[in-house]
Formats: sequence, structure tokens, C-alpha cells
Amino acid sequence: MRENEILHWFGTDPFEAGRELMKASGQWQNWGRDELIGLKPNLVVAKKASSGATTHPAFVAGAISFLQEKGFRRIQILEGSWVGDSTKRAFKVCGYNKLSDKYDVPLIDLQKNSSVVMESTNGEYRICSSVLQLDRLINMPVLKGHCQTSLTCALKNLKGCIPDSEKRRYHRMGLHQPIADLNEIVRADLILVDGLEGDPDYEEGGNPVRMNLFFAGTDPVLIDSYAAGLLGLQPEEVAYIGKAAALGIGSQLSDETKLRYLNKGEAVEGIQRSVAAYRLKEIVREDGACSACYASLMRALSFLEKEDNFPSAPVHIGQGYRGTQVSGVGIGICLKGADSYAKGCPPEAAEIYRFFKDGS
Ligand code: SF4
Repeated sequence: MRENEILHWFGTDPFEAGRELMKASGQWQNWGRDELIGLKPNLVVAKKASSGATTHPAFVAGAISFLQEKGFRRIQILEGSWVGDSTKRAFKVCGYNKLSDKYDVPLIDLQKNSSVVMESTNGEYRICSSVLQLDRLINMPVLKGHCQTSLTCALKNLKGCIPDSEKRRYHRMGLHQPIADLNEIVRADLILVDGLEGDPDYEEGGNPVRMNLFFAGTDPVLIDSYAAGLLGLQPEEVAYIGKAAALGIGSQLSDETKLRYLNKGEAVEGIQRSVAAYRLKEIVREDGACSACYASLMRALSFLEKEDNFPSAPVHIGQGYRGTQVSGVGIGICLKGADSYAKGCPPEAAEIYRFFKDGS
């Protein structure tokens, strides 16, 4: 397929979607049958795909079954869940252990992988060794929202290819630039997006919205600028898209983009994010917060919002506040220096909820 193309497959069958998009992409035609192919789903947390957080195993199975039929035998599935969860648990809960057995495809836990320092235009980054050893990479993100970056799709999904220590560092660096830089180092040969029922608000799911859409491309900047529109966002609202374009990683959606449809259906546009997701930005003072910490805050605020108890004073969160005195309230152990703070690292949503509700 051409770089300025996006292929679509509509429906509710992830297996068929994986097969059809893989086949129609034609990318595999130039790959050697002995090449090592890695599939990188999004298993950020140990939650089933129906939660809206993770890539459907059947979507990955569809791609694998097509590749195996074409004679590719060296296939792996690679992932490193977020710092607050274990990839091993995610593989099991998300149905990837069964998938691995059925297709005889190994699962590579990148949280346990060694890493290598690589150069980008803007500095050095550690990348998991197994990712660097691949001949071909197929990026298989979920189309969903993210409480800090608003969107997570192709570009951000590669954050699972770095060690946990780097994930924490990315957050201290503000996420957007390191995500763009990472994509300069790790380039996928094909991107297959699971848009069946992602959560438009949170990367950890809980509020799945049916979109019944799967799409594919080779340019992660194009895919993400298109994905942003599907979630009702302007690409400028997701800073890493522009930063990746500036690095020459790809081109944003334009009149040159060719939208190709493999079957009949309708694209869903402007899916509504929740009120809490919007209001959050008004009160949160974030400086390098870890994903799990921020997600707990989001969840607690959703409950408080429903009870009409949404806090009005600024809420501080993030590693950048460590060791500083903060006037006001904070979230997590990093905010020990605040007037009061919700304990934990990362704190549980229930803990944060209690903190706001009872002041305990
Ligand atoms: S308390 Fe600090 S280090 Fe712990 S999860 Fe939150 S932001 Fe990260």
C-alpha cells in the first residue's frame, strides 16, 4: 500500500478484520519468509479488550493466520505493559496465552527484556533489545483516548517497546517529545488499528464505545492525525503528532490522503469524550505524572463528577513536584510536600476518592 493511504474494514469480527487488512495492505509481499516478524498489540493493563483498553486477541490472530498461510513462520508477539501492571498478567487476562498456544507464536515480555541505548535527533533513548532484533514490526494499537495526551494510537503504542525506567523518564520529560523521538528510532512496517470498541477517555478502559472500525496504514503520523479526528480532536491537540511530523516521520491528513474501503460501513466521527475528561484539564496541575497515577485520578474524578463533588481547587500531580513545597492538594507520594495529599505510588482511585470526599 502507498504511504498516503488508509485502508478501512468495518464490522464486528476482529479476526476477519485482521486477515483482510493484512492481506489488502500487500506489505508482506516483499518480506522474506525467514524474516522475524513482531506484532505489537496494546496490552497496557491486564483488562480484556471489551473494556476498551487492549487490542482484541482475535484481531492479532487474524493477522497471524494470514501470515502463516503465506509461509511466514518466525512470528512473535511483543509487549511491555505500563509500570503499574505486569505484562505476564496482561497476556493471560487478555487472552494472549491461548493465542500463543493455538498459533505456536511466542510471547515476549518486554518488561523483562534487556535494552540498548539508541540515538535520535533529540537525544538518547533505551529500546528493548527484542524490538531491535526484529526484521519487521506490525504495530497493532487500539484507537482510544488518553487522559494526559488526549489520544493514544500508532505513535504512542510504541511506548510499550521501552523499559519501565524509560517510561518513567518519558513522563518526567512531558511525554510528547520522547514519543515523537521514539518513533524516529522504531519504525513499524505496517500499522493495524483496532477501533472496534476503544475507550475515548482513558487508556485503561472502562468506558468502551462501539465504533466497529478497523483501519491500516504505514505512516504513523497520518494514522494518528486521522484517529484524532475520529475521537473529535484536532491533531494540534495531540502535540506528539506535530512533533513527529516535524522530525520527518510522516505526514498529517490532507487532501492527498486516500481513504480506501474494503467493505461497506460508516466511519464514526467526533465520538464524545466524557465531561470528567474535559473538566480534568481545568483543575489539574501536572508535572511528569505516571500514567497509572493520572488514570487513578481520572477514575476518582469521574465518580466525584457523578456525585456533583468535582473539586474546584487546583490538584497537583507528578514526579516534578518531588521534594518541593506545594501550596494546595496533591496526588501520590510525590506530593508529600503539599498541604495535604492522597497517599500511594500510584495511589488507588478509591484512595483518591476518599481523600476528596472525606479529606482523609
Ligand atoms: S506518586 Fe509520583 S512516582 Fe508514584 S505513580 Fe504518582 S507520579 Fe508516579
